[in-house]
Amino acid sequence: MTTLTNTDETAPVEEERPLTALDRCDSCGSQAYVRATLGGSELLFCAHHGNKHKEKLLPLVSSWHDESHKLYER
Ligand SMILES: [Zn+2]
Repeated sequence: MTTLTNTDETAPVEEERPLTALDRCDSCGSQAYVRATLGGSELLFCAHHGNKHKEKLLPLVSSWHDESHKLYER
């Protein structure tokens, strides 16, 4: 798990913050292209693990931010 800043209830949720090369998949350490916001914490996944976990996580998350399309833009 990543140790990102603990967001309390008053902290704004940065749902539209783009992912960067510094964001890493929680499962394998590859560059993250998917960010799931879940109960105030964030889970980061590469495109592969994003797809793998999407079906299970999607009903639970408050936000599912998917930039995996960037992989195919060039
Ligand atoms: Zn991964």
